[in-house]
Amino acid sequence: MKIILLGPPGAGKGTQAKLISEKFSIPHISTGDIFRKNISEKTPLGIEAKTYMDNGKLVPDEVTIGIVKDRLMEDDCKNGFLLDGFPRTVKQAEALDSFLNDNEQKIDTALLIDVPKEFILERMTGRRVCSKCGASYHIKFNPSKIEGKCDACDGALIQRKDDTEATVKERLDVYDRQTQPLIQYYKDQDILSAVEGTGEITKVFDKICNVLGAVGK
Ligand code: ADP
Ligand code: AMP
Repeated sequence: MKIILLGPPGAGKGTQAKLISEKFSIPHISTGDIFRKNISEKTPLGIEAKTYMDNGKLVPDEVTIGIVKDRLMEDDCKNGFLLDGFPRTVKQAEALDSFLNDNEQKIDTALLIDVPKEFILERMTGRRVCSKCGASYHIKFNPSKIEGKCDACDGALIQRKDDTEATVKERLDVYDRQTQPLIQYYKDQDILSAVEGTGEITKVFDKICNVLGAVGK
């Protein structure tokens, strides 16, 4: 199954992607995670991406598209993949379509996790992520068992630099201007599906499984 996860920052894409990837045995490809790994390793890509990310802006399309194409050519993507945080612009979506077309593949569904704006700020400012494996927690809605430590790998939980109130507002603005048009883009292709992303994480996941079950048939 080839899936794109759409939704505003803080919608729960990373949280649900982890569950979907485990259940359907497909790799979870998060461009944000790829950039963060490069930042922590201080690679040239990381150094370039950091200035954009810290300000809530998008990393330029040419850079991002190249990274995703390289990743999709890896062996583990042959039987499917889950894209989280990509595409984020119409240009990225077109480049993805053209790449998949050249490889005689196509997206099965673009799944929108729909969360009203008023939920987002609290979700993002309360988000804590594992500095080792990237797992996402929330101080109130999804706390780790031991405070400050990842349940999965014991790594230290940190707050992302771009999860401050000012940067979150900028990212929501960027989402409205540059990413939201993708909803219509995939509607026009007749592959958009949507779930309401409010409510408990497990309930949202159940709804996603229902949608993906229908797509898989
Ligand atoms: P995204 O990848 O879309 O930016 P995340 O998956 O990192 O979003 O989720 C953002 C924050 O909201 C995290 O702190 C996460 O634990 C929390 N969260 C995710 N899903 C829910 C939910 N259904 N209800 C409450 N909080 C949630
Ligand atoms: P995320 O982890 O998906 O919230 O992404 C964090 C940040 O990484 C974004 O605010 C952007 O600066 C950058 N980023 C992630 N994915 C993309 C993308 N597809 N295009 C451009 N920038 C991206």
